[in-house]
Amino acid sequence: MKERLIFHVDVNSAYLSWEAVHQLKNGASTDIRTIPSIIGGDTSLRKGVVLAKSLPAKRFGIHTGEPVTDALTKCPTLQSFQPNFPLYHKYSKAFITILKKYAPVVEQVSIDEAYLDMSGLHYFYSTPLEAAEKIQTDIRETLDFTVNIGISSNKLLAKMASDFEKPDKIHTLFPSEIEKKMWHLPVRTLFFTGRAAAQKLNQLGIYTIGDIAKSNPDFLKAHLNSQGVTLWNYANGRDNSPVKESPDAPKGYGNSTTLSKDLTSLSEAKPVLLELCETVTKRLREDQVYAQVIEVELKDSHFRRKSHQTVLDYSTNTTDDFYQISVKLFKELWDGTPIRLLGVRGGKLTLDKIEQIQLFTETASSHEKREKMSKLDAALDSIQKKHGKNSIMRASKL
Ligand SMILES: [Mg+2]
Repeated sequence: MKERLIFHVDVNSAYLSWEAVHQLKNGASTDIRTIPSIIGGDTSLRKGVVLAKSLPAKRFGIHTGEPVTDALTKCPTLQSFQPNFPLYHKYSKAFITILKKYAPVVEQVSIDEAYLDMSGLHYFYSTPLEAAEKIQTDIRETLDFTVNIGISSNKLLAKMASDFEKPDKIHTLFPSEIEKKMWHLPVRTLFFTGRAAAQKLNQLGIYTIGDIAKSNPDFLKAHLNSQGVTLWNYANGRDNSPVKESPDAPKGYGNSTTLSKDLTSLSEAKPVLLELCETVTKRLREDQVYAQVIEVELKDSHFRRKSHQTVLDYSTNTTDDFYQISVKLFKELWDGTPIRLLGVRGGKLTLDKIEQIQLFTETASSHEKREKMSKLDAALDSIQKKHGKNSIMRASKL
């Protein structure tokens, strides 16, 4: 295969940087990136968590995901600011627009990171580093925030590289550098290794990425199923996944149905919405992608088409998530006129799951519930694949 050149570009402390830039533009005299500061949930509720932190805050031992009240104990002068998602989306868009000037194919994977396929770009730049510096400088000068750029021949290694020392840094991690730059790192830092997998690996005496690389893949598979093999490939720097152009919202995965008889009540609409959510999310899951935008569409008996969508700060492909949100959107959209057509759509796709950052400390039970729902979806998918669509149904549909 031809050698590829892939960049992974990641905004440094995105939420906090964007808030800082916004404040400076509106006349603030202090750059909150230079003082201990965080973006956090509501402290009056005593339950808000840290969503992003400045470097000076990090020096106080404050980390993302901890309760704001704990962070305040570590640093009483800490400044905390409320999240502003519309602002983040604005900056995210501007960030991607700049990236598109430099690469023919840009794949946005979350609000603040993207892969660029730079293969063949050596006609324009003498070195990959020169290209990366140009991008970094353009973003800094145009938008006033910094990024890390990871450079390699595949997505996995580029992503790992961008995570090395921050902020405002460029790192390479070519296959020849893996041993020196990646193998000494703890297993938890390897992309796709969750906390549970890391614990299991440690119990097996596997502590570093190098340990994974040198393990027998069959042994890893026996303990971690297919994830074990993926991790073994990753630890050895192998990843062939292409950089995929991210479709613009509201393109994506949708389904709609013209009803045999006009619907006139919410209770009639609900099972139709569930059916639509099931087919849409099933396709998302088959393609292993997640949606950040959910949209409900309807056509009423006067042939008026209306739609209503929401942009999530996480991405999902579980039926239950889609269904709960669709019902809410439907209630907000529908004025009571009889309905002839209903549709559900998922857009703004991401390849990796963007986790829901809880503004309030997540209760164990709600986390468990979401895990359960994912498992239920997977079980239903596989049964229906084997035995046909009508072989099994959700209890809520009966
Ligand atoms: Mg980032």
